[in-house]
Amino acid sequence: MGSIILFGPPGAGKGTQAQRIVDRTGQPQVSTGDMLRAAVAAGTDVGIEAKGYMQSGALVPDEVIVRIIQERLTEPDAALGVMFDGFPRTIPQAEALDRIETIDAVISIEVPDDEIVGRITGRYTCKSCGRVFHDLHLPLPKTGCPCGSFEELRRADDSEATVRARLETYHAQTRPVAEHYDRAGVLHRINGVGDVEEISNAILAALGVE
Ligand code: AMP
Repeated sequence: MGSIILFGPPGAGKGTQAQRIVDRTGQPQVSTGDMLRAAVAAGTDVGIEAKGYMQSGALVPDEVIVRIIQERLTEPDAALGVMFDGFPRTIPQAEALDRIETIDAVISIEVPDDEIVGRITGRYTCKSCGRVFHDLHLPLPKTGCPCGSFEELRRADDSEATVRARLETYHAQTRPVAEHYDRAGVLHRINGVGDVEEISNAILAALGVE
């Protein structure tokens, strides 16, 4: 099996589905968002360059992204293919990827904008264990997180204005990437609204993993 891409707007549930796919395929998850957040936290050169773009909802420049992906793909666990999450986000990124990796399938998780804004702006995690909570759907219990902590953490790029900006960026720069893979005959469109389990099953069926 070559690599696969998990594609869709921010807040489509890519993170949740990524975990489920990885559990079944055994491929490592390669998330540029996670790699960039780690770089920002560690204060590396990449982190320093990326921080401003991320906070405003803009995309980090292609050459930075392609560089961190190239480095990641040289690691031994990437030899049998990976699952990309949040990459590629532009046509130049997709073209760069075409030159270095075979893509077997692209799963596009489709969710309307208004649904996404509601999902992301209510989202937060437990500061000590990372469990995800949501103001409306799954609030932190009054007794605290099951891990014992009461402290919550909200991502700085999760405010409504930033989410709207990220969606605009998505429509302008990222959606054309789906057409790129549609032309290559590897795109699978999956409805991302509904039961998490059913969405996972639809994705695994599209990947031919039962
Ligand atoms: P994510 O967690 O995937 O939504 O990524 C968070 C932020 O990191 C995005 O809003 C972008 O600023 C940046 N980012 C992540 N992946 C990419 C990418 N492939 N290309 C450009 N910027 C990215």
